[in-house]
Amino acid sequence: MTDCTVRTVVDALDSRYPRDWAESWDRVGLVLGEFDAPVTRVLCVVDCVPETVEQALDAGADLIVAHHPLFLKPVSSIAPDTFKGALVHRLIRAGVALYTAHTNADVANPGVSDALAARLDLTGLRPLVPAVGAAAGEGRGPGRIGTLPAPMTLAALTRFAAERLPATAAGVRAAGDPERLIGTVAVCGGAGDSFLADAARAGADAYLCADLRHHPVSEHLAAGGPALLDVAHWASERPWLDDVAAWLRAEVGVEVLVSDLDTDPWTVHAIRDDLEIRP
Ligand SMILES: [Zn+2]
Repeated sequence: MTDCTVRTVVDALDSRYPRDWAESWDRVGLVLGEFDAPVTRVLCVVDCVPETVEQALDAGADLIVAHHPLFLKPVSSIAPDTFKGALVHRLIRAGVALYTAHTNADVANPGVSDALAARLDLTGLRPLVPAVGAAAGEGRGPGRIGTLPAPMTLAALTRFAAERLPATAAGVRAAGDPERLIGTVAVCGGAGDSFLADAARAGADAYLCADLRHHPVSEHLAAGGPALLDVAHWASERPWLDDVAAWLRAEVGVEVLVSDLDTDPWTVHAIRDDLEIRP
C-alpha cells in the first residue's frame, strides 16, 4: 500500500491498544514522527535503544513500534549529548517515527501475555487480574493463567520454558521443589513481582515472569505460593512482537519486521562446574 502514513499506523494501533487502557503512570502512543509521512516498512522492538534504532535505519524502516516507552519521566532537554536525546535526533534526522504500546498492550486481548502463554502451549487462558476502569472487558487484564497440555515437574517446565522462549544469557531459573507437579501456569510479560499474590489466589501451580527478587520470592514460597520461574525481561515480551507484527500486516498492509536483537541487559551467565544443581 502506498498511501499508508504514520497517522494510518497510529490510528490502527490506537484502536487495538487504546491509550486510556494504559496505567496512569505510563506514557504510550506516538513519541515522535510526522503524521503525514509515508510508511512502507515498520520494525517492532521491545526496547528503543541505539542498537534497535540502528537496525531500523539499516532495514529502511519508516516507523518503530516499541513496547517500552522511551520517555517515562518528564525531561527538560533532548540535547544530542544525552542518551535519549541522541536517539531522538537520530530518528528525526532519518525520518523514522516512534510509537509505544506498553501497559495498554499488556491488558489487551490478545495482549503481551497471550503471546507468552502461547509459547508454553497454555490453553483455557483467562486474565491473571481482570482489568478495571477504562480497560475493563472480555478477557482483558494483565497476565494470563492457563493449563499445560499435560502436567510436568517444575524442573521439566523450567527446561521447556528455556527451549520455547527466545534464548538469552540469563536463561530461566526456578524457585520451589523441582519435583513439584505443575498443571496450571500463570504468566506475565515483564516485571511480575506485583502479581505474586494474584497468581497464588488464582490457583496457579507455577508463575512465570521476569525481574523477580530475593525477598518477595522467599516470602511468597514460605507462604505456600506457586512455584516461580524467572525469565529474561526481553524474552518474556519478545513473543508479543510477532503478534503485533502479524496484525499490522493484515490491518494496514505494510511490511512489518520483527527485531530479534536481544536487548536484555544481562549478557553473561556462569555457574561453577563443581556446583551440584538440583535436581
Ligand atoms: Zn517490559
